[in-house]
Amino acid sequence: MEKRIPLIAANWKMHKTVGESVAFIEELQREVGAVTDREVVIAPPFTALAAVRRVMTAPGYRLASQNCHQEAKGAFTGEVSGGMLKDVGCEYVIVGHSERRHVFGETNETIRLKVAAAFACGLVPILCVGEVLAERESNRTFKVVDEQVQSAVLGLTPQQARELVIAYEPVWAIGTGKTATPDQAQEVHAFIRERYAALCDKTVANLTRILYGGSVKPDNVDSLMAQPDVDGLLVGGASLEVGSFKRIIRFV
Ligand code: PEP
Repeated sequence: MEKRIPLIAANWKMHKTVGESVAFIEELQREVGAVTDREVVIAPPFTALAAVRRVMTAPGYRLASQNCHQEAKGAFTGEVSGGMLKDVGCEYVIVGHSERRHVFGETNETIRLKVAAAFACGLVPILCVGEVLAERESNRTFKVVDEQVQSAVLGLTPQQARELVIAYEPVWAIGTGKTATPDQAQEVHAFIRERYAALCDKTVANLTRILYGGSVKPDNVDSLMAQPDVDGLLVGGASLEVGSFKRIIRFV
């Protein structure tokens, strides 16, 4: 049976110059080498994408953008399209990160358009979903996550639904040092997979990778990755240092 290949993604947000990004990738590849049984995805800022692409030579490493615009081209000052990201060598694009939703006001509808735009350009979206603390505390986690997933997959082909990567990132755990417990992560991941099976198809849902994100660190990576429905990680803060990110890539 086809297996879900673990995917570890680094979201550098608005950190690192071109020089710092290149130095990081060179050191990471020197220390970790080729990666064969997992995928390592790096999402540097837009400014460093081309330079990172040039030095990303070891097998198993892939380039991602942290965002894209939903239109292919036009008068959208300051925006970057999926086609431009593909052109610079991206394979993945993070869509609907909680900072895009909550700081920049992206809605489920915008995110749906971005997912479709990414696929149209040959990029694989990493769709971020997750509840804020007040939603968790009022027992609305499943409802919120369900709506986010349902809206984003509307109109996808079965092949696209199978390729889509979903990242469950409880907003209260992002950059706060508060990680969801492995049981809390597993509970939501299993729910997402079950809903995905109902929305798409069971075979597709069994092949779709669901990542966890939210204060992942070297000391919690193994217990999170031991959960049956946790297929990888989206890492912010701990992906900025080679030492901690290298340990996270090498989860057991
Ligand atoms: C993120 O930015 O997606 C993230 C999970 O950040 P952190 O690991 O710092 O919580």
